[in-house]
Amino acid sequence: MAIIYLNGEWLEDSAAKVSVFDRGFLFADAIYEVIPAYAGNFFRFEEHIQRLNAGLQQIKMDYHLDVPEWQQIAQDLLARNELKNASLYLQVTRGTYPTRSHDLPKSLTPTLIAFVSELPPVYDHEKKQIESIRAITAEDIRWNRCDIKTTGLLANCLLLQQALESGADDTILVRKGKALEGTASNLFMVKNKQVITPPLGQTILAGVTREFVILLVKQLGMEMIERDIPEEELVNASEIWLTSSNKEIRPVVELNHVKIGTGIVGEVWEQVNQRYQELKFNLYRGYFSEIEGIKSNEPKLR
Ligand code: PLP
Repeated sequence: MAIIYLNGEWLEDSAAKVSVFDRGFLFADAIYEVIPAYAGNFFRFEEHIQRLNAGLQQIKMDYHLDVPEWQQIAQDLLARNELKNASLYLQVTRGTYPTRSHDLPKSLTPTLIAFVSELPPVYDHEKKQIESIRAITAEDIRWNRCDIKTTGLLANCLLLQQALESGADDTILVRKGKALEGTASNLFMVKNKQVITPPLGQTILAGVTREFVILLVKQLGMEMIERDIPEEELVNASEIWLTSSNKEIRPVVELNHVKIGTGIVGEVWEQVNQRYQELKFNLYRGYFSEIEGIKSNEPKLR
């Protein structure tokens, strides 16, 4: 049985309950984060909390999470659930109001939820292998503020289901002819040795992994470009990757049932992923990175 953090209490999952009038439940009036931990250490914790706090501001909630306090809660969750490699889920809702009302009630007490679940390794270090994925493209049916990480994810779920029902693993979302991101990941494309990713704005989430991968690509001396990616250009990419905190840098080897590049993981991915894996290990061992612009957000742990 999992131990859940709910509003300052540690509860067994079956006992962790929120009101039916909680605005997170009624309106998806809530912001969330997903943060991976490796060997007991959270990866890019501060960056995730910063994004969560920015999200709370964007939805006009006068509340923010304190990094050290939440680091402690997150570490306690790992300990209480006896997990080392885990995915932490954090959610802050606007709170419970006695009636269902569309206006944003002031001075509610936010509902705070956190739990951890086991995170299986994405990359096999011994075999040097990763599970590559097949994607389809589909029209983005989400709202116009995809930069805010709200729990309103029904469109994402439907778009993922569309991929699964067509025999693929994920959907790359397209709006006004531009390929934007995956249903829960950011998009990268390699073409003519350039690494390209769509620019930040209201149509995509500012992924913590996206930011990290951009720094790695630059550090490896490759050309990194942030620009729009027309859907038709994707088909001719030599590589496509989808990035996220839990899935890391996932190579896409087939798009709309057509091979991408040679149909196996690409050379540029090999280099960037190798560096990502090295740094991930270094960071969670508590070393400060030698890379300018990438700081370890953890104290020295060993
Ligand atoms: N884009 C969307 C829509 C997401 O839901 C996610 C993660 O959940 C990402 C991108 C990747 O973000 P991160 O790298 O911070 O996990």
